[in-house]
Amino acid sequence: MTSLESGRQPTISSDPFALARGLRTPVWVYDTDCCRIAYANEAACKIWSADDEASLKSRDLSQGMSTTVAKRLKQYQSDFIERNAEFCEFWTLYPNGIPITVNVVYTGFIMPDGRMAMMCEVTGEAKETPETLRSTEALLHTDVLIALYTIEGRPLYKNPAARNALWGIDVGFDEIFVIPGVFDEMRASWQRRDDCHCVTKIKTTSGERWFDLSTKRCLDAVTGDQALLVTAFDVSELKTTRDKARYLAARDQLTGCFNRSYMQQRLDEISSNVDPSRSRYALLFLDIDKFKKVNDTFGHEIGDAILRTFAERVRKHIRETDVFARMGGDEFVLLMKEPPSSDDLHHHLDKIRGEVTKPIDCGSIQLSVTTSIGVAVFDNRAGTDWATTMKQADLALYHSKRAGRDRYTVYDDSIGAEAIERSWLEANVKRAIQDDAFTLFYQPRIDLATNTVVAAEALLRWFHPERGDIPPGKFIPVCEEIGVIDQIGMLVIKQACQQMNIWRRDGFEIDLSVNVSPKQFQHEDFASLFEKAAEIADFPLSSLELEITETSLVGDNAEVSRRLLRINELGFRLALDDFGTGYSNLAHISRFPVDCIKLDRSFVQQLPSSGPLLSLILALAKQIGAITVAEGVETAEQLAWLREHDCDQVQGFLFSQAVPADDLMSTCYDICAQRRSVA
Ligand code: C2E
Ligand code: MG
Ligand code: MG
Repeated sequence: MTSLESGRQPTISSDPFALARGLRTPVWVYDTDCCRIAYANEAACKIWSADDEASLKSRDLSQGMSTTVAKRLKQYQSDFIERNAEFCEFWTLYPNGIPITVNVVYTGFIMPDGRMAMMCEVTGEAKETPETLRSTEALLHTDVLIALYTIEGRPLYKNPAARNALWGIDVGFDEIFVIPGVFDEMRASWQRRDDCHCVTKIKTTSGERWFDLSTKRCLDAVTGDQALLVTAFDVSELKTTRDKARYLAARDQLTGCFNRSYMQQRLDEISSNVDPSRSRYALLFLDIDKFKKVNDTFGHEIGDAILRTFAERVRKHIRETDVFARMGGDEFVLLMKEPPSSDDLHHHLDKIRGEVTKPIDCGSIQLSVTTSIGVAVFDNRAGTDWATTMKQADLALYHSKRAGRDRYTVYDDSIGAEAIERSWLEANVKRAIQDDAFTLFYQPRIDLATNTVVAAEALLRWFHPERGDIPPGKFIPVCEEIGVIDQIGMLVIKQACQQMNIWRRDGFEIDLSVNVSPKQFQHEDFASLFEKAAEIADFPLSSLELEITETSLVGDNAEVSRRLLRINELGFRLALDDFGTGYSNLAHISRFPVDCIKLDRSFVQQLPSSGPLLSLILALAKQIGAITVAEGVETAEQLAWLREHDCDQVQGFLFSQAVPADDLMSTCYDICAQRRSVA
């Protein structure tokens, strides 16, 4: 079959079909819009086995017409309008159910009402074998694009579907591809004589569409030259549906980030060496700080808005090769292929943190969030495994959180060692509680006016059979984290009260202070602990002082006041420990019934440079009517300075370390004797 284009104009006259009526060859006009014959000459009526033109015109040719043919005819109609085209094709007619295949030349024909129809002029009956006729029909009717090109890609033949889709006969094979490089890749494979198959985007008359395309080397039956047979079928719908399903399966609905299962799949692919580059990766765990609190305080809608904004902002700073996923809740993971060098990575993380902290508009309110980040490196070449890397990133994140949040930590061995130490402590602290391995030691507190020991601070001691003394600074935070601080608190208060009872019974009268951690203070049952202490105590309750830190006073003021007043009502005294290391807002603190301010050891040890600051604290403490105790006094110079500046009491290694209960009385006598001799 061939197709020619010519400059021939459509026929226009008062009887538009007048010319054709006199012809001996069958000619008819097919009205594409109505699927009926509009005009037919005598020869045409004969070939169609119609008695006359009127009866032929009354036939509805849409009956039994395949959709492909209908589509093709529509395409011809627009080709006639746009390009004044002319086609030559077989047409198999079925006048009385008996097929006759004829060669027909199609041209455009303007109907009296201005619409474009198709003039069909039979040039002869097709003489081909049934096999040829059938295969020709199949080629004409199929939706599959079939085309034959020279080995250079010049078109030799296109079936109607290919002609319609691929901009007529003349467009070369190389011109149809949307994605750069696909044609070159295909050419390389057919030059190697390989068959080639791909799904690719093609420029068609209906826009850019996805096609399943195959090429095969063959010989041109006319010239015997090497040729290329191309078949292609439209898979756009299938691809869109599949892509959408794939997209949804891999995405987190709320933020549009990848989801946990996609991230897991990527990690698996990398570790199973599907990634031939054997690259280095940085794995970043990102958490929104205190997200739960935001969610609980402002509701889930605002929580969702924050998650969405957070994801959007991090995405602004990720590279094309990075994978960013929401693992659930406020946990995100960023996988960076070939991460930048250490300095650049730090710079990059600062940029992410800077972006994330910008205020977020949540309708009537503006909120700001920060993020804690843990980073670990996965080196495929070094044979690391993801389970380890994930654990390391998690530990680094944990480290960021413990260090005060709003920061990043890159994993190193010290963090690993710290984690091992922490798990040891976690496991052993519980056992120590069960085994009653904690004891209180007591450090004397000296009144500078009288040079006598007036009180002692109860300090917890843990002696481990293998590891020796473990300092409270190490195990108290672990007790807080694993939720056993209340048990410890109970143990301390009981032991302290029982010891006070013993000393009283032995005629040794001394005040005692016990430490209370902020976590313990926040506990709902906090006051009941001291109600219990009041029951055990065989001494005036004003002899027992609670040491709390400034952090305990931050938060819900009404609730803090309520707790402190309850302690006050019971008769216990209250001291503010480590003063100056926290928020240090005396105006705020003056609202609470504080009896004593303990100046933190760090200030005493920095004397005399910390002098002006200490003087100020001493003056302010006097203003709110609290007595002052300087902690960590180690030298005679420090003591002299404190005495000169009217500090009320002191405590420190200059006098004594914390000693066992049985030694306290003698230690106190020694200190007093020594003080008297010094004085
Ligand atoms: P803290 O309450 O400020 O206790 C004072 C700490 O300073 C004690 O350390 C004490 O031994 C040390 N210290 C006292 N004088 C000197 C000195 O002259 N030089 C030096 N270098 N250090 C001195 P310790 O016993 O290791 O306790 C550390 C912290 O652990 C305490 O600080 C307190 O916050 C906490 N802690 C101790 N016992 C308990 C307890 O029973 N319950 C709670 N919740 N925390 C406790
Ligand atoms: Mg203390
Ligand atoms: Mg202290």
